Amino acid sequence: MNFTSINSDIAAARLSGESVLPSPIRSLENFQRSGKSASDINNQVCLTFDDGPDPDYTQKILDVLADYDVKATFFVLGSAAEQFPQLVEKMIAAGHSIGNHTYTHRHPWLVSSADAKNEVTRTTELIKNITGNTPRWFRPPFGRLRTAMRKQAHAEQMTTVLWSRSIIDWGILGTATGIARRLEHIKAGDIVLMHDGKREHNHPEIMLQCLPHFLRSLADKALMARTLDNIT
Ligand SMILES: [Zn+2]
Repeated sequence: MNFTSINSDIAAARLSGESVLPSPIRSLENFQRSGKSASDINNQVCLTFDDGPDPDYTQKILDVLADYDVKATFFVLGSAAEQFPQLVEKMIAAGHSIGNHTYTHRHPWLVSSADAKNEVTRTTELIKNITGNTPRWFRPPFGRLRTAMRKQAHAEQMTTVLWSRSIIDWGILGTATGIARRLEHIKAGDIVLMHDGKREHNHPEIMLQCLPHFLRSLADKALMARTLDNIT
């Protein structure tokens, strides 16, 4: 690990990197501000699922989404997509969008610049091989911005997408009560962070308990869930 290059990279990002790279998308309002879309976000939300595909949970989540005819965006890990390509194919077949969430989910600040780029490129290649299309969306692990990674994503024509609402379906806050309460607060324009991958402290099994009620409630609130591809 080369701390000198990491520190200089962060310093460079502070000085100039942000000015040459487009700001990450954090909510659907950003799409309008960036001039990419004139679509009306009044009743739209984007549900995003990270860290999959997962052999135990992704299919279950796909089934619940299908039950309510809801489309989502999956930010997949290259290493998991490589292992379970059939789940990525099912996402595409069901009309969901795919984003790049790096190959191994290493912390963006703790890898060399070369590894940071490789994490992005290797995953793009895998997604392309499985789906036939290059992903349009990139989300760095932990939402941590690293200039080398973002530049690589930008060079590959991907837009960096973060979120406006995390349901915190992980760690000690990731209880059914807590997740359900946070899901109740989802509103138009939100990009919602959820997890289908059971890695580290994620609780997809608890999120799954809350998902049907939440998806049912979208109709009551007149909210329409759209994929990132369908926003632009
Ligand atoms: Zn993640």
